[in-house]
Amino acid sequence: MEIANDRVVGIEYTLKDDEGKVIDTNVGSEDLVYLHGHHNLVPGLENELVGKKAGDSITVVVKPEDGYGTRDESRTFEVPKSSLPQGVNPEKGMQLTMRGPTGQAMPVTIAKVKLSTVVMDGNHPLAGQNLHFAVAIRSVRKATRDELEHGHAHSPGHHHH
Ligand code: ZN
Repeated sequence: MEIANDRVVGIEYTLKDDEGKVIDTNVGSEDLVYLHGHHNLVPGLENELVGKKAGDSITVVVKPEDGYGTRDESRTFEVPKSSLPQGVNPEKGMQLTMRGPTGQAMPVTIAKVKLSTVVMDGNHPLAGQNLHFAVAIRSVRKATRDELEHGHAHSPGHHHH
């Protein structure tokens, strides 16, 4: 069976940056199982997987605009240390969830720690980066009705809601 919308696909993947450094991989652990065509992967990778079947392998370089987006410098901002959640000892690279102006959860990364303030970066940590994927397709099956309703794959023994 080929990969197409509304099919559940199991993959083994390694993600590297432009320098060849491994950012993420599931090699040696469970396959990543996802529902195709429901924005569960970055678009640049999902598009390349269409038509592939179990046993195929692909490598693909995904540009930022088809990955986690380009960097937007207006999404960096500085806040007083006193506004951080209680008990947080800020360090560069630390990821936090802040409350936006309307109370929505906003994931941020600490870009810089100054004397009394902290510079926050609201961009995705992989924004602006080329994503080098090596993917082995392990399984392809039709999605169940539940999976289509939920917009994600259900794996046996892993009920996640
Ligand atoms: Zn579900």
